[in-house]
Amino acid sequence: MAEQEANCIFCKIIRNEAPGEKIYEDNDVTCIKDINPVSTHHYLIIPNRHIRNAKVLKPEDSELFDKIIATVDIITDKLSLNPASTRTGFHWPPFNTVHHLHLHVISPVEEMNMIRKFMFSPNSYWFVSTDYVKLHMEKNCK
Ligand SMILES: [Zn+2]
Ligand SMILES: [Zn+2]
Repeated sequence: MAEQEANCIFCKIIRNEAPGEKIYEDNDVTCIKDINPVSTHHYLIIPNRHIRNAKVLKPEDSELFDKIIATVDIITDKLSLNPASTRTGFHWPPFNTVHHLHLHVISPVEEMNMIRKFMFSPNSYWFVSTDYVKLHMEKNCK
């Protein structure tokens, strides 16, 4: 079993100790429905290992990170989402609400209201793209 935390809600869902609607799961990642969806489709792709946030990702996590990104395609295919209307991104500390890394997958973007669009606006101070995180991760050498 991957390294987890006893009281983290996402770790609990991964261990099936808390309710969560799993869309996909394998040895490395789990995809669940967001409990407060902002559009018809709103999912969270989370690593099974407890990682606090996107900022602490290190170069040695790159394989796992790529796996998280690849899972977007799995979910997109599985649920027939239109990639052109799908937004993905990570919270950037201190703007994360749950302290277990999760990639938001939201579709269709057109259905979100103004406030939600603002909350999940690409490459803002609080919500960043997968490319931004990858660049940061590669520079995050100790
Ligand atoms: Zn956790
Ligand atoms: Zn979130």
